[in-house]
Parts: sequence; structure tokens; C-alpha cells
Amino acid sequence: MAHSPPPKLWYLPNHRDALQAHMHFLHKLGNAKTEANYHAYYQTLIKDGTANGATSNANLTSSDVPFKTKCIIMKYRTGTLYNQKHAVLFKLSRSQTCPLCPQVDSALHILSGCQHIHAN
Ligand SMILES: [Zn+2]
Repeated sequence: MAHSPPPKLWYLPNHRDALQAHMHFLHKLGNAKTEANYHAYYQTLIKDGTANGATSNANLTSSDVPFKTKCIIMKYRTGTLYNQKHAVLFKLSRSQTCPLCPQVDSALHILSGCQHIHAN
């Protein structure tokens, strides 16, 4: 039985820049804004006491929250929950209208605004 060589590992000296370049090359994800407004907004909510850092992240370690739901939460928090605004930005569509209803699509619309009977 032939042994395949172990995968080549390499050291990333600057995790931020090297990881960003690596992720963009392989997954087209690396050129996202790393100083995004979502993070700054969340930090503001923590500082002013509107959000509690421990409880607002409790869903991530809860066994009651399905993994798929955790993924959706993280996508929403990081602004990567795909919607028509992304489709227009990536030139995959010309319309920001929700595919289910006549309103403008967005992450918030997907999670709480869409009134279409098949939205949830
Ligand atoms: Zn809708």
C-alpha cells in the first residue's frame, strides 16, 4: 500500500494579511473589510450596556441551538448572510427586490421582515 505524502503545511507569519490572501485565493472570501461596521456596532452595544457579551453569545455554545442556526446567526452578525444586495454587488442580479415579496431584500429582511407566507 503506497503512502501519500502528508499535506504540505506552511507557516503564515502575518495571520491577517497572509490568511486574507489565502482565503481569497481559495474561496474568494479574503477581501472582505476586516474593520467592518458590524464589529464596531457590536462593540458599541457591549460598551453602552445594550448587549451583554456573555449572554448574546450564549447561542454559540448552547446544545439547544442547531448548528445550521448558529451558522445563520454568524452570517447575520458578520454581514455575510447572502441576500439580493449581495447578488447585485457581485453582479449576479440587477434587482435588490426579495425573490419572495416586493420589498427590498437584506439580511434583516430575511430574518424578520419578509412577510411572504413561505419566508420561514
Ligand atoms: Zn421578502
